[in-house]
Amino acid sequence: MQIKRLRITGFKSFVDPADLRIEPGLTGVVGPNGCGKSNLLEALRWTMGETSAKSMRGAGMEDVIFAGTTSRPPRDFAEVSLLAEIPSATGPQETEIVRRIERGAGSAYRIDGRDVRGKDVALLFADAATGAHSPALVSQNRISAVIAARPAERRAMLEEAAGIAGLHVRRRDAEAKLRATEANLARLDEVIADQD
Ligand code: ATP
Repeated sequence: MQIKRLRITGFKSFVDPADLRIEPGLTGVVGPNGCGKSNLLEALRWTMGETSAKSMRGAGMEDVIFAGTTSRPPRDFAEVSLLAEIPSATGPQETEIVRRIERGAGSAYRIDGRDVRGKDVALLFADAATGAHSPALVSQNRISAVIAARPAERRAMLEEAAGIAGLHVRRRDAEAKLRATEANLARLDEVIADQD
């Protein structure tokens, strides 16, 4: 998967709509302290389904909405759109993933204009071997975290890079369905036994 464009509106310090074209290859973001480098990476992670307020450096999920400054009033919503090129059997396919949060109304996701669940977005990225916790996104403190990671954490990073993280999610779903079906079968056996 290649991320081609990021469009940010009302997210953290990005109060005005900002468009960022991402060219093929390695992308680095440089700038003075406090100019919004980390916010940019957070916007990307957030659209990929990041649900932890802590990893978004805020107390609550609504903290991602522009909170206002002395000269500008706060915003009521934040929206980030990500344009990605996803390989498919018929060739690369452009897909737009949008996440939007409104004060008091929570957040919602869309893939190519269709309303979807956060889980669908997370699976889309997991299958493409990328996502909110992908080793492809390296924040300032992440390099030392990779070095200090415990073997289990490092294995999770490798699994994500290898593109099998999505399979774990599907396995958990399949196991839950299997347990529910087994419970139904047991109940059916009881009903049949009662009628004998
Ligand atoms: P550094 O190199 O120091 O880590 P940085 O370039 O990564 O800086 P960020 O941490 O991305 O900068 O941006 C910090 C700025 O974003 C601060 O000025 C902070 O006030 C602003 N900011 C964060 N959240 C919000 C918000 N919800 N509303 C308005 N501004 C915000």
